[in-house]
Amino acid sequence: MPLMDYLNRQRKFQEALRDERLHGFVVAHPANLRYLCGYTGSNGLLLFLDGRKTFFTDGRYTVQAREQVSGARIVISKGALIKDAAAMLGKLRSAAIGFEADLTTVAAAEQMRQFTPKRLRWKPTSGLIMRQRMVKDAQELKLICAAVQLGAEIYSEALRFLKAGVSEIEVASRLEYAARRGGAEGMSFETIVAAGKRGALPHGRASAALIPKRGYVVIDSGVILRGYCSDMTRTVHVGRVASVERTWYNAVLEAQRAAIAAVKPGAVTGEIDEAARSVLRKAKLDRYFTHSTGHGVGLEIHEPPRLGKAQAEKLEPGMVITIEPGIYVPGKGGIRIEDMVVVTAGGAEVLTPVTKQLIEI
Ligand code: ZN
Ligand code: ZN
Repeated sequence: MPLMDYLNRQRKFQEALRDERLHGFVVAHPANLRYLCGYTGSNGLLLFLDGRKTFFTDGRYTVQAREQVSGARIVISKGALIKDAAAMLGKLRSAAIGFEADLTTVAAAEQMRQFTPKRLRWKPTSGLIMRQRMVKDAQELKLICAAVQLGAEIYSEALRFLKAGVSEIEVASRLEYAARRGGAEGMSFETIVAAGKRGALPHGRASAALIPKRGYVVIDSGVILRGYCSDMTRTVHVGRVASVERTWYNAVLEAQRAAIAAVKPGAVTGEIDEAARSVLRKAKLDRYFTHSTGHGVGLEIHEPPRLGKAQAEKLEPGMVITIEPGIYVPGKGGIRIEDMVVVTAGGAEVLTPVTKQLIEI
């Protein structure tokens, strides 16, 4: 496994800072730290200042920081990290320093102001690093593919245990056990196993409920492998599926395929959502499709772009997104089919290597 190209990421980010007319920037969000310099600990702060990069952490992470942090001088702080960072900023005559406004607590922002002189301007920014993270580099794509592969394997493992009379939690625990054994650092979100009527809850996390003799079971799960998340959903049917319920499944599958077919560079996220929604509208099922069509995935499970109604982000090669239309019929159940997809120069490549043919168990 080649080392991540952190220096290149830092260089790109510094270009963005120049475009935004910022002299410096304070990064503290864990996923952003991991992305920019490789640090995976919990307490860290990366200061960009006029081409120099300094990483602050506390004594608990001395060894970890030395092992992990690329491209920055390391400072071990005794107190609040921002205090030491501010001391460095305090030497400036005047400057505009950006920070991750949407990821900073009010208390932390207050500290930043408290420790720095008035002539320094803190400039709230939002999504500056995320913009860069949206487009995955080759190394990230490799890691994402590995996570998706493990996600597919643990799903197959869970299917071996899924049958009427077994609890949802039992199925989820088999899946999560396989994830751990496959090297996952954890699950990227709480595993969803929602059977029968519970399937009508789009986020029905696995419960003690037993899987009924007949009906759909929605299984939505993902792993975190070497920092990167996977996300997939399949819906299987316990018992023989009645023809109307097969019609529903086919409509969701058709919607999912239509959305994937619409994925290409330059396509607008809202149009991808509409591609799925219009199929369900024709089938008179759109009122049961109560969420958006997908989301970006990477170091975090929910990243931009969002593929929802009226979203206007343009897709670019290298973006990794989910396509996951679903329908939730109260009192009856739910069906969702979700793949991870990478936007390529020519269109889209589906990463999830698992059949979407309806399985009857
Ligand atoms: Zn999912
Ligand atoms: Zn998802």
